[in-house]
Amino acid sequence: MTETIRCYIGLGSNLNDPQAQVREALEQLAALADCELVAASSLYRSDPVGPQDQPDFINAVAELHTTLDAETLLDQLQALEQSHHRVRERYWGPRTLDLDILLYGNEQIDTERLCVPHRFMRERGFVLWPLAEIAPELILPDGTALSALLALCPMGTLEQIQL
Ligand code: AMP
Repeated sequence: MTETIRCYIGLGSNLNDPQAQVREALEQLAALADCELVAASSLYRSDPVGPQDQPDFINAVAELHTTLDAETLLDQLQALEQSHHRVRERYWGPRTLDLDILLYGNEQIDTERLCVPHRFMRERGFVLWPLAEIAPELILPDGTALSALLALCPMGTLEQIQL
């Protein structure tokens, strides 16, 4: 039997009605073959990383259980990004939809296409706080508790969006 892996996916958008982009992406994640959307955080508003002359971001984190291998999951996420007509003209510039594999089970992956846990997740409030909303007890593959990372990363200007 194929093993089911618990993954966490980071979502972000700052173009073309970002809240709608993220909500639609959550529905699309739920509809992916061989994947089950188990939980989704609230939406959060965050300041842009890098160039500041761009709109704020809307972020969320989803828990997905999948039998896909990590690279096939990345293919699926990249196809979803493309379906949102993602444009990316500059590094850390505005984007319609960004989907990142934050965690893929307890695996540590370092290939040409994939770095998991995601390279920047440990220091980014817009990843850590939504993640904590759906997985407060989470332990990273290297044994670090999410709660320890949160203690070093105040919410600052990150805002949970109240519906
Ligand atoms: P970005 O759109 O800036 O998030 O970067 C996309 C690129 O990051 C793609 O070429 C992916 O192959 C690569 N990448 C490396 N690790 C990851 C990951 N954990 N999740 C998503 N993309 C990743």
